Formats: sequence, structure tokens, C-alpha cells
Amino acid sequence: MQTYDFDLFVIGGGSGGVRASRVAAGYGARVGIAEAFRLGGTCVIRGCVPKKLMMYASQFRSAFEDSRGYGWTLGAYVHDWAAMVAARDKEIDRLEGIYRSLLDKAGVAVFSGRAELDGPHRIRLNGEVITAKVVLLATGATPARLDVPGAEFTVTSDEVFNLRDAPRRVAIVGGGYIACEFAGIFNGLGTQVVQLHRGNQILRGFDDELRFHLADEIARTGVDLRLGVDVTAVERARDALSVYLSNGSVCEVDAVMVATGRHCATSGLRLDTVGVDVDGDGAITVNEFSRTTNPHVYAVGDVTNRLKLTPVAIHEGHAFADTVFGGQSRAISHNNVPFAVFSQPQAASVGLSEEQAKAQFEDVKIYGSSFRPMRAALSLREERSLVKLVVDGKSDRVLGAHIVGADAAEIIQGLAIALKAGARKADFDATLGVHPTLAEEFVTLRTTR
Ligand code: NDP
Repeated sequence: MQTYDFDLFVIGGGSGGVRASRVAAGYGARVGIAEAFRLGGTCVIRGCVPKKLMMYASQFRSAFEDSRGYGWTLGAYVHDWAAMVAARDKEIDRLEGIYRSLLDKAGVAVFSGRAELDGPHRIRLNGEVITAKVVLLATGATPARLDVPGAEFTVTSDEVFNLRDAPRRVAIVGGGYIACEFAGIFNGLGTQVVQLHRGNQILRGFDDELRFHLADEIARTGVDLRLGVDVTAVERARDALSVYLSNGSVCEVDAVMVATGRHCATSGLRLDTVGVDVDGDGAITVNEFSRTTNPHVYAVGDVTNRLKLTPVAIHEGHAFADTVFGGQSRAISHNNVPFAVFSQPQAASVGLSEEQAKAQFEDVKIYGSSFRPMRAALSLREERSLVKLVVDGKSDRVLGAHIVGADAAEIIQGLAIALKAGARKADFDATLGVHPTLAEEFVTLRTTR
């Protein structure tokens, strides 16, 4: 019988790879994992976690402003970018340490370096060959760059966390998750923000009403949101950057952040040596068990073309380990995955948008309400929140829920459980609200639009 160095070798120590390693090791597999950068992957090192810490930092400004309406008098306040970065990075170091110790405790061998495939069951790492019965690819994705003259003057979400100072003015390119989130972060921290998006509205694929509502709210917070514009060039002009736009105008800023999507990180993996196929977007092709076109090679997380979300990668990694090492076949379901954009205000959804529902169901009922949140009453802020339910008129099943407003991300989690359980509108109606909250609107929506 052929023997291998490992039962499982994982390439990529992010959310999906780490979960798969630990669970497989728990089933008694001999597991090795290689990470080229830092354990924790995009989410922990340069994604969800540092982003959310910076979002918290940026929210104090509006809290200070709102506090006046509630009777507070504040002295001058200034933000110390370097202090925020130092505190944030200390927390990231701590989390990375936790990831390492979880792997150590699980008995997983951790390697530092960029691994590549080297034929069936063979991995090449730091000049050595390692053999494994099963290989899991969990290398994630990397930010897209702009293909325009002067692109070298721009930063992506990989570099934005390393800025030494807050820029006085920033241009953010894109209308997706990252662009909307960083527009809010920079704006809150006192930077003048212009957000440049090529499409006619932000967040393509989200519920249309949510998109329009959120765009209005983002603009209301002071972000100069410009739609239907492409960046044609970036030029360095003395200490500043000039951003040339397709409509003939030019923006003068101190930094340009590009957030135009993420590409699957397969380059250098040498997938061809093991017959692993990629699709037209360069994503590794997998079946519902995350198996690639080579039966001994699996892939989870952002390197596949499913949903690029941390909990999805974790779910896929766990299901892979259960299936291959735990003796339970677990196909992955990507239905009713909740998602949230940590913009300011936040937006969150689960299930179908109104447009998706109308394309799939004959009788779709829409319940919704847009209102001034209570906190704005005394702060005199002109903010409006949105809650919306999309319901199948025939079965009364709730197909989708959408929110724009404070704590939308926290609220959507509970709604996701309801949708996963197949809740009907009548179940929402029979549930009592928590008063006074934004969330209670979901159980008091009575009239259709
Ligand atoms: P998104 O796919 O969300 O958005 C990309 C944006 O860039 C879109 O507005 C797109 O416009 C625009 N775009 C694409 N190509 C170009 C181009 N060549 N020139 C100009 N604009 C372009 O990607 P992000 O980079 O924001 O985030 C990557 C992924 O990471 C997300 O899809 C999400 O899965 C995940 N993520 C999740 C977060 C969360 O859960 N809170 C936070 C951050 C990231 P168009 O619509 O016209 O295609």
C-alpha cells in the first residue's frame, strides 16, 4: 500500500483551510497546512476583522455629532490614525496567534511558504516534496487592479491597511462591498471621499430598492458618490493624484483605493500538473462536495466560484472534512446565506431580492417600510432606515428580507434562521416585536405595496 507523508495537505491557512485542517485532524487524519503569508487569511489579516475595527473607529464621529442633540457638549476631538493602526494590528497579531495555537492543539503540522502542486499527491514547498493522499486548495482570492495608466499609484484592500496616515482626500473606485465599506470608514475618520462607480447604481445583484435607498444614505453622510463613471487614468501631480474620469472630469485626491472585485488565487499553484480545471473566471471548478476534476484534490472558499464570504468558506471546509475524513457525506447548501455590507448605514439581506422573486414566482407580495430611526429624532440627523419582506403570495413563505439601517448585520442573522426554517409571513405576524427597535418593523408589516 502506498504511504504518504500526510492524509491531508491543505494549501492556504485562511478561514476555509484552517477549519478543514482542524476538523480533519479531529477525525484522526494526519494533516499538514502551508500558508505563504500569515495564518488567518484575508478575513483576519486584511479583510473582515481589521475592516470592522476601523469601521468602529470611524463611527465615533457621527456619535459625537449626534450626542449634541442629547445634551452633550464636547471639546475638540481629533483622531490619531497611528494609534488606531497600532491597536488594530495588536488585535490582529493576537488573533493570528489563536489560529496558530488552535492548529497546534489539533496536531496539524504548520508550514510557512508558498506551496505548489507537483503532480498527483505531490506538493512542492520550500524546495522539498511533500506527499499527501488528499490535497485541499484554499488559497482564497486577491484584489483586482485597475488596467489604466497610473494604476501603480493606487492601492487595493491589501495595501490600504498599511497607509501611514489618513489621506485628506480619497477616491474609492467600485460600487461593491469593499468600496461601500471603505467609503464609510474614510468618511467617518474625516477624509473627504469621492466614490466612483461605473454602473448606474451600487451593489449590483442586491435588491434594487435597497441599492437606491443605501446610495441616498451614503450620499447623505457626505460621500461624493458618482455613478456611471470610469477611471481612465491616474497621474501623480506634485503631492496629489489626479484621477481622470470617462465623463471628462478630473478629481484631485491624496490616495486612490481600488475595490473592483477579487480574482481567485490560483497562479503559481500549477493546477495543470494534477488535472484540476478552472472555469472562465479562473475559479477552480468543484462539485457539491468541493471535489475538483481530480478526485484526490478538493477546493473550498474564495478560490472557487461560489460565494466569497468567510462563513461560506468555513462551512465548505467543515463539510469537506466531514465528507472525506468523517464518513458523513455533506453536500453544501448556498441557499439563504445572509450577507451584510458594513457601509454607513449598514445594509443586509437574506434570500431573494424583489427582482429575483418576481422572476421565479407568479404571485410575489412586497411588504416594506422606510422611516426615520428613533435615534435620529433628537440628533436631527436626516437618516432613513428601510425594512422589506419579499413573500410568495401562494404559499405565504417569506422569500427574502432586506434592511438598511443601524445594526442591519446583527438583525439579519435572526431573520436568516427564520428563512432557513421556511417561515411564512403568518409566522412573522404571530411574533411579538421588541419595542422600540428597528427589528420589530419586521413583525409589524401588514400592508402590501
Ligand atoms: P464586488 O464584486 O462586491 O464589487 C466589485 C465592484 O467593482 C462592482 O461595483 C463592479 O461593478 C466594480 N468593477 C468590477 N470591475 C471593474 C472595472 N474593471 N472597472 C471599474 N469597476 C469595476 O467586489 P469587492 O472587491 O467589493 O469585494 C470582493 C468580494 O469580497 C465581494 O464580492 C464579497 O463577496 C467579499 N466581501 C464581503 C464583505 C462582507 O461580507 N461584508 C466585505 C468585503 C468583501 P459592476 O457592478 O458594474 O460589475
